[in-house]
Amino acid sequence: MKYCKYCGSQLDDDAVVCVNCGRATDEFVAAGAESDTNKTLNIVIKVFMVLGCIAYGWTLIPLIWCIPMTVSFFRKVSDGRKVGVGFKVCTLLFVNIIAGICLLCRDENCYKD
Ligand SMILES: [Zn+2]
Repeated sequence: MKYCKYCGSQLDDDAVVCVNCGRATDEFVAAGAESDTNKTLNIVIKVFMVLGCIAYGWTLIPLIWCIPMTVSFFRKVSDGRKVGVGFKVCTLLFVNIIAGICLLCRDENCYKD
């Protein structure tokens, strides 16, 4: 017997999704594993988004979206969630062009909605 690492519910041994909270179990995450390219892209995107925040820091106003978008991306990566096209384009335009291009290159198929 195993337990959901997010909510602690008991799971069937072959369960891929927790029936209580709906999150994927480790086995499911492993099955839809991130490619090495995506892992590298994620690191590059994180670095350039943080650099984007710092670069815009002096104007203060972009912090209203730069920091929330960067935090949101970090959360999406740690949860294994998809990043929408709108978010990618906004990152490219308003946070950092390199991070945006890397985001657009990211393969979303291995992530959940
Ligand atoms: Zn759960």
